[in-house]
Amino acid sequence: MHGAQPILSLKAVRKMFGPHAAVDSIDLDIAEGEFFTIVGPSGSGKTTMLRMLAGMDTPTSGDILLKGERINDVPANKRPTCMVFQSLALFPHRTVGQNIEFPLKIRGEAPERRKSRALQLMDLLRLPQSYYARNVMKCSGGERQRVALARALAYDPQILFFDEPLSAIDYKLRKTLEKELKDIHRETKKTFVYITHSLEEAMVMSDRIGVMRAGRLVQVGTPQQIYSTPNSRFVSEFVGDVNVIPVSLGSDGLLHSSLRGEKLKAPGVPAGFTTGHLVIRPEYMKFLSGPGEADNVLGGRLYNEYALGSRIQYQVRVGESVFIVEKLRQQAFAGRLDDDVFIGWDSRDAILVTD
Ligand code: ATP
Repeated sequence: MHGAQPILSLKAVRKMFGPHAAVDSIDLDIAEGEFFTIVGPSGSGKTTMLRMLAGMDTPTSGDILLKGERINDVPANKRPTCMVFQSLALFPHRTVGQNIEFPLKIRGEAPERRKSRALQLMDLLRLPQSYYARNVMKCSGGERQRVALARALAYDPQILFFDEPLSAIDYKLRKTLEKELKDIHRETKKTFVYITHSLEEAMVMSDRIGVMRAGRLVQVGTPQQIYSTPNSRFVSEFVGDVNVIPVSLGSDGLLHSSLRGEKLKAPGVPAGFTTGHLVIRPEYMKFLSGPGEADNVLGGRLYNEYALGSRIQYQVRVGESVFIVEKLRQQAFAGRLDDDVFIGWDSRDAILVTD
């Protein structure tokens, strides 16, 4: 945050629906110009949080500050912010140009100025200028999404809120739009607050990510921090495939696991740690030729392999437990299914979490 005043601050924000806290005691600062993504599973409170930030709902308790001013009760249309919805909410019988110019029209801007701004925004969003007079319903889903974003930008808001805008779009186009959105964020330098249930999407675009679980913000950090140093089993599993081993700390300083009684070497053990989980990402797991080649080595059986484009995942069974090992395609493992194999990892590549 570099000491600058945050554009948005949440102070102990809570939203109750009857006895149920949909959003519970959230403290958060969002910096001006930041791309901040709130991510969490269905029902974790993302939409409720965004609705309060956008002024469509008021907190039951706590405060929301915009540049230091309390805005709890300021309605959406009185805030210098704009929401971009998943359901596009465009005017279906109007042209692309008319849709984009709508905010400028209600502000009373002259037609020539409106048109030149609309064409500028279409340029920014890589919509061909020839689309200006096209009926918006003749545009594809991805194009309509861009029109909606151009219209939101025409309001010239300080903050844009995005409610899962890409979830209804097919995978390939979504991947393209994720990158475009990040480019647009760069070019407009506006504050973007985005919600999604896809951490993968959040990773691509965001400066920082807040992970929600059952109404609480359980971790806030850069994509790199969320990926490499998850603070809980929940966050580690939310990021993608992981190997998770239940462990307890023995008096010998080793981690005692349920894996056939294996004792594992610990990475830095947090003060007060007694029981929890050891988390190892599949790309840090190695195939080895025998014991001693890594801090922790387990013998198992190669059960299956899965091609994932540029990577290959291997499933290795160790007793009753299943491990995932991942390799780049050019470093594919030469073993055959049902081979006895050794897998392992170095302590520094594992993360110990307390839950
Ligand atoms: P999704 O990804 O499915 O949209 P979400 O993370 O956005 O989920 P919310 O829609 O914020 O979650 O809902 C959080 C919790 O609050 C849920 O348990 C939901 O059932 C409840 N909830 C949301 N809106 C209301 C409402 N108007 N009245 C009662 N309960 C509500």
